[in-house]
Parts: sequence; structure tokens; C-alpha cells
Amino acid sequence: MGLALQCKFFGHIITVDKALAVRDGATQEYKRSLQFECDKCGKPVRPRAAGDKHVAHFVHVKQNPECSYAEPPREY
Ligand SMILES: [Zn+2]
Repeated sequence: MGLALQCKFFGHIITVDKALAVRDGATQEYKRSLQFECDKCGKPVRPRAAGDKHVAHFVHVKQNPECSYAEPPREY
């Protein structure tokens, strides 16, 4: 269990900080082609910046209850 603090990006394991930097540095067009994958289940994930109640981490684009990574409730 635990939050996803790393993911797979073009075959490499990268941290959420790195992913956020990649995303923030990408052009609008390039952003759409960015594919971050869960390093446990292989499903698409996206980086979420740190907030008041959580550190930066990855969330599944579509929730995956099968995955062993925990996802905190979304409080958007
Ligand atoms: Zn997963």
C-alpha cells in the first residue's frame, strides 16, 4: 500500500517531482502525448501536485481498485 510516488515514463521509472516538471515544461500539444504509467499495474496515471493534506503523487486516470497503490479521496 501507499501512495504512488513514482511511475513509468517511456520505460523509465521517474519520480512524481520529475513528472510534474516534465508536464509543466511541456507544450499544450506535447502534454497530450505524455504517457505516465503506473509502475505496479501499468495503467495510465497522472501526476498530482502536493496540496494541503497530501504530498505530490500519481493518481490513476481511471480508478483502478485492483492496484495496490492507495489513492486518497479526491477533494477537488
Ligand atoms: Zn496502478
